[in-house]
Amino acid sequence: MYCPNCGAPGLDDRAVFCPKCGVQIQPFKSSIADTGSIGWCILGFLIPIVGLILYLVWKDEKPVSAKQAGLGALASVCLGVVAYIVLFVMMFSM
Ligand SMILES: [Zn+2]
Repeated sequence: MYCPNCGAPGLDDRAVFCPKCGVQIQPFKSSIADTGSIGWCILGFLIPIVGLILYLVWKDEKPVSAKQAGLGALASVCLGVVAYIVLFVMMFSM
């Protein structure tokens, strides 16, 4: 990997700053890798706690994927709450 600013070769993939010119390179790299996937949304929906953890871990590094995982978890929690309300309403109406 090369520094986008000065072109210094052999940078570490996890390096946040270029050791040669000091420019911040991490957001540049992660913005390319962070394409997101509907799979994170589904995973967050199926296992909301995982979606929440992924959201918290990724919200700075991978905002697109983090948002999808978080949205999936949120949708799952909302659906769970609605399901409980419907269940209660059904129980009391019988
Ligand atoms: Zn550099």
